[in-house]
Order: sequence, then structure tokens, then C-alpha cells
Amino acid sequence: MAFTMQRLNARVAAGRATPARAGRRLAVRVNAVGQKLEYLWYDGQEGTAAKGMMFNEMRSKTKCMMKPIESLNPADFPDWSYDGSSTGQAKGNNSDCIIKPVRVVPDPIRGAPHLMIMCEVLSPNGEPHPTNTRAQLAALINEKVEAEAPLFGFEQEYTMLNKGTGTVLGWPEGGYPAPQGPFYCGVGTNSVFGRPLAEAHMEACLAAGLTISGINAEVMPGQWEYQIGPVGPLALGDEVMISRWLLHRIGEDYGISCTFDPKPVKGDWNGTGAHTNYSTETMRNPGGMDAIMAAIEKLSKTHAEHISQYGTGNEQRLTGKHETCDINTFRFGVADRGSSIRIPLPVQLKGYGYLEDRRPAANVDPYTVARLLIKTTLL
Ligand code: ADP
Ligand code: MN
Ligand code: MN
Ligand code: MN
Ligand code: MN
Repeated sequence: MAFTMQRLNARVAAGRATPARAGRRLAVRVNAVGQKLEYLWYDGQEGTAAKGMMFNEMRSKTKCMMKPIESLNPADFPDWSYDGSSTGQAKGNNSDCIIKPVRVVPDPIRGAPHLMIMCEVLSPNGEPHPTNTRAQLAALINEKVEAEAPLFGFEQEYTMLNKGTGTVLGWPEGGYPAPQGPFYCGVGTNSVFGRPLAEAHMEACLAAGLTISGINAEVMPGQWEYQIGPVGPLALGDEVMISRWLLHRIGEDYGISCTFDPKPVKGDWNGTGAHTNYSTETMRNPGGMDAIMAAIEKLSKTHAEHISQYGTGNEQRLTGKHETCDINTFRFGVADRGSSIRIPLPVQLKGYGYLEDRRPAANVDPYTVARLLIKTTLL
């Protein structure tokens, strides 16, 4: 039975409760039945690259509901707004930006009945904000695209930094660890740093119902990867954004900040990427290798356009060393981790499947990668 304001007021009126006591009871009760909605959005600044390594690209604020909304349908949740002049998305004299729910998932941090609401950003006139790359992707999805049901698997790499100092987690103070080699997919206290955060993040992604498909320790110590997918284009962007927010948020509890900077440590250390695995219906079926090769041919002609939107600072990562292809070269290969586009060996053996675009940097906007891959290969 609801413990309503009216009933409390009646108790106060009848002299059975003081207003202060009634207020305390109401507060306790509302905490128990109320609902917190964490509204998330992307500020369009590619985090680390625009703001410095220790800061990120996600924003959020909490809306409290007295009466929980029992739904995961974005249309059932109200639009909201925020001060765009404080996120670099508006001028001070006309600063309201609107956030419109696009994906609703259970909140793994607060638990039920609380929810996380991924939003897209609109300008005051209701048009998509210039940073709203989701709307640009949605505008491209026509019947032809839907018929090919494109799927994406996104390998989100990141680097863990110590709170405050910004040094890489696990590295000796003022120095360097042993050269790369023992760390990738490693185990043991001298090989792997930050596993509790990586595990907690994976757990949270699963509890939120995201399509996370795995995690691994990366080549540079303190560097990690998780994968989202395979999912469709809009779900990819939404899930990557929610998973990034969770990574930053859970990092608060561990005193670790995670950066998507494409080259967090200069020199002989791997950069940080977001390999994007991509397939269409035709590629996924017997005989699909022809469609994979046709897509690669098209991608070879739009290399510069893709590179220009594949993450800020990516030129420091795509050097031709450290499992990358030089930024000015387009090359594909089977099982070749020095290529721009890799055909995984199992795909080559079967003759169908998917391709891997190895060019995107870790700080890339996932909606943008999906848009470019669809535009180049399907339209
Ligand atoms: P790598 O060997 O490059 O490290 P990973 O195992 O980290 O590869 O990532 C491969 C990704 O490809 C996973 O996210 C997986 O879900 C995704 N994937 C698998 N099949 C497909 C497909 N048909 N289309 C798109 N992505 C796919
Ligand atoms: Mn305020
Ligand atoms: Mn991987
Ligand atoms: Mn990797
Ligand atoms: Mn990969």
C-alpha cells in the first residue's frame, strides 16, 4: 500500500505525527519505492583528445521519480535538458540542450528499480544537435541497409591511469615496466594491472543487458579491451556509450581513470584502438567472401574520409608499427595485424563471415564508424 503524502498529512492533522517525523518517514519510504533515472549523453568531444587524458566524453545527471516507470521503452520516458554551455555544446546566451531517451537499460550500480537512460542531444528547436552523430547514422538507414542487416563488433581498448597523477596503472613510479611481451592476455601480479576494475565493468555491462562479448588484458601493461557486439548500428553506438559511462563511473570507486587516448604513452608502446568488425547478411552466408572483397575495394577508395573521422590523435597511433598500418596507406590482408582491413583466418577458411577495420582509434565515435562503414559499403 502506498505511503502517500495525503495519509501523512492526515496523520499530522490528527496529531498522530509531527511534520518533522512525517517528513522523515516519507523520505525513507520514497527512497524505498522511488526510482532514480540516470540520463546519459555524449558531449561530442572525443573525451581524452579534446580535454586531456584524464577526462572523458560522457555526461549524466539523475532524475528522481516518485512513481517508478516500469518500462524499458525510451518513448515512455520524458525528454530532459541541461546547460550546453557547460559541456562545450552551446553558447551561454542560448544554452539549453535537450536530451531525448533512445535506449533504456537496468542500472547495475544502483540496482532495481533504477535505470540508465542513454539519450541523443537535440538543439532547442528540436533539431538534432551538431554533435548528434546518432541522428546522422539513423538518417542513413533505409530499406536497402535494413535488408543487409549490418552487424558490428567493437573492440574497445582503454588504458587505466592512477587517479590524480595520471600515470599508467601498475607502472613503476617515474620509470617504465619491462618491455611489451608478457602482458597481452597475461595473468599474474607482475603481468596484469587493474583486473578488479575490468571484471567489475564486465559484470556491470552484463547486468545492464549490454551485448558485451568478452574482455582481455592488452599488449601494453595497464591497457585493457572489452568487446561490444555483434549488434546493429544504432545499438552499437548506444551500447558503446553506455559501457563507456559505466567504465568511468566504476573507475570512480577504484580511484582509476580510464583513457581512450590513442597513444597514451609515446615511444615503443602499443597505442589504443577500437577495431570494428563488420558484416552484412551477404557476407555472413556461404559465398560471402565476394561481398567482403567488394566492400574492401570500396573502402580502399574512401580511406582518407574514414581516417579523418576515426578519432582525434589517431596519427600518433597509426604509425605502421605496433600492429597498425601507416595512416597514409591502405592495405588489407588475411590474419595480418599490420593491415588496415584484416580478414580473420577463420573467415578466410570458411569463405564467409566478416571483416575487421583496424583503423578506428579508441576514442572514435561508434555512431560515426557505423555510419561510414554503411555509407561506403552499402549505399
Ligand atoms: P581480435 O581477434 O581482433 O582480438 P575479438 O575477439 O576481440 O577479435 O573481437 C571480435 C569481435 O567481432 C567480437 O566483438 C565479435 O562479437 C565480433 N563479431 C563476430 N562475428 C561478427 C560478425 N559476423 N559481424 C560483426 N562482428 C562480428
Ligand atoms: Mn544549475
Ligand atoms: Mn580483440
Ligand atoms: Mn586489442
Ligand atoms: Mn582486433
